Amino acid sequence: MQPHTSSLMTPKTHIAIIGCGIIGALTAYELSQDSRFRITVLDRQQPAQGSTGAALGVLMGVISHKKKGRRWHRCWAGLERYETLVSELEAITGETIPFNQNGLLRLCFEGDDMAGWQRLAEVRAKQELPLEVLSPAELAERYPQVQSDDVIGAVYSARDRQLHPQALVQALVQAAQLNGVQFHIDTDISHFTTHATDDSSHHCQTIHWGDQSLEADQIILTAGLGSSPLVQKLQPVDEAITTPALDIRPVLGQALHISLPQPLSLKPQPVINGQDLHIAPIGSDCFASFRRNRPNEYWIGATVELPDDAGNPPELEQDRLDALWQTALSFCPALADATILRSWSGLRPRPEGRPAPILEPLTGYDNVLLATGHYRNGVLLAPASAQWVQAELTARLEARLSAQQ
Ligand SMILES: Cc1cc2nc3c(=O)[nH]c(=O)nc-3n(C[C@H](O)[C@H](O)[C@H](O)COP(=O)(O)OP(=O)(O)OC[C@H]3O[C@@H](n4cnc5c(N)ncnc54)[C@H](O)[C@@H]3O)c2cc1C
Repeated sequence: MQPHTSSLMTPKTHIAIIGCGIIGALTAYELSQDSRFRITVLDRQQPAQGSTGAALGVLMGVISHKKKGRRWHRCWAGLERYETLVSELEAITGETIPFNQNGLLRLCFEGDDMAGWQRLAEVRAKQELPLEVLSPAELAERYPQVQSDDVIGAVYSARDRQLHPQALVQALVQAAQLNGVQFHIDTDISHFTTHATDDSSHHCQTIHWGDQSLEADQIILTAGLGSSPLVQKLQPVDEAITTPALDIRPVLGQALHISLPQPLSLKPQPVINGQDLHIAPIGSDCFASFRRNRPNEYWIGATVELPDDAGNPPELEQDRLDALWQTALSFCPALADATILRSWSGLRPRPEGRPAPILEPLTGYDNVLLATGHYRNGVLLAPASAQWVQAELTARLEARLSAQQ
């Protein structure tokens, strides 16, 4: 993002960001480099305790089937920004953010369209992004840790990545604080003060929690699954304008952290993706600067468990985790020697009946933006969402300034 200097005559626009997962934290950090803004982040719990706290941080952009248009640009914006952001944050904070730059290996099974992968590789070659389609023999030679008669080939993407989402959020918060961003944690928002505007819209003026409140010029909802109840609280009660309900539903994901007697391979290890699960090495060979030496440890995940018709998340069931583990073993039998260190779960925010993410002004309000509903790719998409927020805020600021002239 471009740095800006504000005129001494122009008061800073106060931005309140509600929600400090990856979307809120990254947006706050990026906006904090723009001196026209004063920023406050609110969360009802510590940073990265929501969906982001469960994420594996796999960044599947080049390997995705999005070839052009807005959806592809959002994926690419993420991959491109993380390439500089991680080292930028490490330099600012002195903390290490585990970042696997060994690429991603996507296994192909019966029914996979290998000709389609070849076509995607040709498109990517024109975009100067390498994507290699591997035969079973090439796969066996390069990645002997994969052993399955069901695998009919693979696609290796050198430019996809994986990072540690929680370490990233901690670094973003620290760096944003150094740039003057205020964080209010444990803020359980009770209500908003709003008023009608001249142009039949509404303006949200004050955010209230406990016995405290905060006035803001612009409000960004980055509260993931908590965004729907917040929009309900913003519903004007006495006016003809109605704010449409925001329907974001929880999709459960369960994952495992395992340790092996030795690493799956002595070569640089990519993330392996097969049958919609990841085997992500979290050891020192892939995170070159990671202080803790854990070359034999991996994250395996995650299940995709849909809510019921009423939108309630499914019960946590060991069977689903066992099935995930069996699937991983089916193409990577060396995992059989593993010790399972822990399992965890989290809820992904999935917009109901519409594509993820939701990046739009809140209908009926002139100063509330939604940056939410990132479902399965919030870590990948966070940089693009932050860029969208900054573009919206800049446009609003410039419109206001030109109206004043
Ligand atoms: C198991 C699992 C694996 C995943 N793996 C990946 C992956 O590999 N790659 C990838 O890109 N994505 C992955 N995801 C998806 C990713 O985690 C989400 O898309 C992303 O974390 C969404 O970020 P967020 O900031 O919008 O939401 P959250 O991280 O949920 O943050 C929202 C924040 O808002 C706060 N909040 C909510 N309501 C309120 C309120 N009323 N007042 C104040 N604060 C409030 C919450 O406390 C929370 O901190 C995974 C998700 C899961 C569950």
